[in-house]
Amino acid sequence: MSDTIFDKILAGEIPADTVYEDDHVLAFRDINPQAPVHVLVIPKRRVERLSAYAQEHPEFVGQFFSAAARVAAHLDLDGPGYRLVVNNGQDGGQEVEYLHAHILGGRRLTWPPG
Ligand code: AMP
Repeated sequence: MSDTIFDKILAGEIPADTVYEDDHVLAFRDINPQAPVHVLVIPKRRVERLSAYAQEHPEFVGQFFSAAARVAAHLDLDGPGYRLVVNNGQDGGQEVEYLHAHILGGRRLTWPPG
């Protein structure tokens, strides 16, 4: 697996606007925000995508979603609400091949997405 931009952020090789970090995840603001709050959550254990994570480390999938919910709470989004999105693979619109969850909030989001 070649290094992605998120590997480089995790390694501190390129800067990121970090909003939360613990032993298992790193959360930082999306460089091209689609909502007033747009944060990406990545596991520190590198995996390409959710489907691979579910196969290789199913025990960590729940931890990852729990961590994403913790990050959203940390951003004060529990009250107003938020959207959690995981793009998986090409048809899912995944551009960076490093598992990440998008937290989107700060405005009323429409459904379905385009
Ligand atoms: P996805 O399409 O789900 O793979 O989303 C990748 C996301 O990463 C996009 O929303 C990009 O705006 C975001 N992104 C790409 N490069 C960076 C970066 N250096 N720092 C923060 N976010 C980034």
